[in-house]
Amino acid sequence: MQITEIFKSIQGEGTRAGLPCVFVRLTACNLRCVWCDTAYAFHGGTRRTLEEVMSDVRGLAGDGAARVPLVEITGGEPLLQPETPALAEKLLAAGYTVMIETSGERFVGVLPRDVIKIVDVKCPDSGEADTFDMANLEAVGAQDEIKFVISSRRDYDFAREFTVRHGLAARVRQVIFSPVFPDPAGKWTGLSARELTEWILADGLPVRLGLQLHKFIWDPAMKGV
Ligand code: SF4
Repeated sequence: MQITEIFKSIQGEGTRAGLPCVFVRLTACNLRCVWCDTAYAFHGGTRRTLEEVMSDVRGLAGDGAARVPLVEITGGEPLLQPETPALAEKLLAAGYTVMIETSGERFVGVLPRDVIKIVDVKCPDSGEADTFDMANLEAVGAQDEIKFVISSRRDYDFAREFTVRHGLAARVRQVIFSPVFPDPAGKWTGLSARELTEWILADGLPVRLGLQLHKFIWDPAMKGV
């Protein structure tokens, strides 16, 4: 597998935000979201075998009562690599709770059922609208989450309509609306969390506001956290 980094941090997003987690970040992505905060994972990385990845995860997660039980496979886009389902299988077999964070452009049905899938639907102002594989609506279930990263009122209106039209709240554990965090280097602007919250409340939507916790704890530009 082509690996950008493996590290231990806290889960920054979704319903498990705040929990200790080991992250396996795979290299490469076929999309180019304008606000992508992991562009450093587009290229490079190191070639590692499945066993080497498992060994790194075991080393970071530790043993016994202090063992970190949560592992997230992320990227880049992790479903571009053919060995990803096998890695997920091995992690599950080793007793970890396994999450995957994916753009929604690839079919998540290739993954073992027990993997918790965090699936994006790209909004218009991401620059990658209409990339969502609609077959994913049938491949997600009660333990999974669907996420919209929102940078404008136009994105919000799209996310609201998609959520309602496809009955997302009944399909997954949680629908998440997450505001774009402003780029520390100024390449893109963010959306105010307060503004997004007010829109959600005004519409009474059955969604959860998602903030990227790690960006409030560490420098927002920091890698490996
Ligand atoms: S899908 Fe994810 S990794 Fe790929 S460009 Fe978009 S935000 Fe970045």
